Amino acid sequence: MSLPRSLTDASTRPVVLLGDPVAHSLSPLIHNTAFAADDLPLLYTALRVPPADLARAVDGLRAVRFAGGNVTIPHKERVVEHVDRLTPAAAAIGAVNTLYWDGDVLMGDNTDAAGFAAPLRGAFDAPEARAAIVLGAGGAARAAAYALLALGLRRLYLVARTAERARALAAHLAPHDTGQALRVLPLERAADAAAEATLLVNATPVGMTPHGDATPWPTPDALGPEHLVYDLVYAPRRTRLLREAHARGARTLGGLEMLVGQAAAAYAHWTGRTMPLDDVWAALEARIGDR
Ligand code: NAP
Repeated sequence: MSLPRSLTDASTRPVVLLGDPVAHSLSPLIHNTAFAADDLPLLYTALRVPPADLARAVDGLRAVRFAGGNVTIPHKERVVEHVDRLTPAAAAIGAVNTLYWDGDVLMGDNTDAAGFAAPLRGAFDAPEARAAIVLGAGGAARAAAYALLALGLRRLYLVARTAERARALAAHLAPHDTGQALRVLPLERAADAAAEATLLVNATPVGMTPHGDATPWPTPDALGPEHLVYDLVYAPRRTRLLREAHARGARTLGGLEMLVGQAAAAYAHWTGRTMPLDDVWAALEARIGDR
């Protein structure tokens, strides 16, 4: 059996995921597949770091001059204070999911926004003429809404069960809303907005395994061939929302596309390379198939 270079080479450096929990993460599969395909002396490891240990963990990583990292729940917001500088996206979103070095400066980026936008390229034409609905007002919604504002949408409806959180998100993103696109709507009025919007984004966890029979969108009949429905949930791959949208002729995108998109943007920071996507998708298909 021949081991990949990253396991045998003394120059191998770590790339880490900091989160709690991390055991479910697909990031080690994605990145180690890409490192091996590109024959890079890098090794990706998921580390469970309880909140009280975050500062010490980042200090330790600085000390060993790790090659880079990802940050996930529950650290994305708190890690902001432990990096040297933020990218514009991380500053605007107020959360970091990627750590990388710019010389001796430890940078914090949020590649969720770029990862969200990547699969929309070619699938969502003329965004400046279009309206979209984002369901949810947490971290994923923040990255998605920031990315959609950057695309220059005409209208962006934020819909959340806790209206207060949707209003707070709109206020947070107001400096980036140069076209005055943002509106907050209660869920009861979201179906009306679907008559105007051509993109519906689910940024809530509703429909996620083991609650795959749930949907965040109670009015599937409001969807049709003019809609693109993008569910950020990636387990299961075909959520009830996506199945119901597809049955009504809508185009669909699943959360795995965003997951790979954010990973590819992080990979570019660490390696200066384009992620070998064919290898990564083959590894994901082999691991999770249609689940
Ligand atoms: P979060 O910060 O906890 O926010 C979750 C949002 O969903 C909140 O607005 C919450 O409302 C709302 N919500 C939760 N349960 C709900 C329910 N039963 N009905 C209606 N709204 C509900 O979580 P997040 O980090 O944004 O993640 C949200 C989803 O996106 C997760 O499924 C996550 O796996 C997915 N995600 C995917 C990717 C990807 O790469 N594909 C990346 C990031 C996240 P309240 O404020 O009222 O609780």
